[in-house]
Amino acid sequence: MEFFTNIMWMVDILEVTHEGILKKFEFLKGNLIVGKAGIKGANSEERLPPDQHVPETHILHNLVRGFYKPAGKPYILSYQATESSKNYGKQIIWNDESETEFLHIEMAPPDKENDPSKKSDIAAARYNLNHNIPIGILHKIKKGHNRMLGLGIITSERDDGVFIVEPYSLKDSSLHPLEQLKRLIKNEEINTNFVAEVVQRRGQAIFKKKLLEDSAKCAICGMDEPSLLIASHIKPWKYSSDFERLNKFNGLLLCPNHDKLFDQGLITFTDEGNVIISSFLTPKTKNKLGLTENSWIHLDEAHKKYLLWHRENCFKA
Ligand SMILES: [Zn+2]
Repeated sequence: MEFFTNIMWMVDILEVTHEGILKKFEFLKGNLIVGKAGIKGANSEERLPPDQHVPETHILHNLVRGFYKPAGKPYILSYQATESSKNYGKQIIWNDESETEFLHIEMAPPDKENDPSKKSDIAAARYNLNHNIPIGILHKIKKGHNRMLGLGIITSERDDGVFIVEPYSLKDSSLHPLEQLKRLIKNEEINTNFVAEVVQRRGQAIFKKKLLEDSAKCAICGMDEPSLLIASHIKPWKYSSDFERLNKFNGLLLCPNHDKLFDQGLITFTDEGNVIISSFLTPKTKNKLGLTENSWIHLDEAHKKYLLWHRENCFKA
């Protein structure tokens, strides 16, 4: 079941009520809700009654700030995006607005320095990112008018602190995550190169996360700065099936130098994990790159078929 980890994680972490709220966001997608009664109940004490999706009283969003982080929970449950030029500017990049399909949301964290919830909001959004927990999205069209945009998933955090949210669906959950993603972003207006690029970017992030869970350092030299580590496919992405693209045994975590050497076929490994160095590298270069004939990596049985492929198709003897 390792290929459905994003869904499994969600079920593990979210309580039934919050899972139900996400289902409700998906169900309500495209609906316009006028007034706060349909989102958090008629007044501050009231909540929405149980319904077909959610087994107990609940709210979809607190309408106080963009981020809605339920009290005591480590994650964001929903986000209210705007297109207003005030405050955070335009946050919704549309794919097809008439169909309520966004391409991505630029989720802006609170910008007031003294905001007491700023830190915990940002930490919570990172929690969603690291655990692949989807969020419900509301579009505040104007005061008291919210349109439900369905679900999104945070796929990255930009250097300026903005979280990028891409569309997500709980349906088709029996499909491979990359296939789900392809269907989500497929649109005749968008060229297939763009779809392939987004799928690859997202897939690489999932793949790196899987490899980091096992061992967060370069398999060859031990360099352990997470932001510099590269999840290197043994059998390259373009030749792999969707299954192979996210299979952690088709990957090695490497530092930039060692990734480049492996990617260009200047090094490979035996089934025992011993390095084989290309004759294209001079002794001086080998020395500078910290490679000796004694270098080796730890391997599992499941790596071997991919390494065989690499030796036969990538390695430049
Ligand atoms: Zn290295």
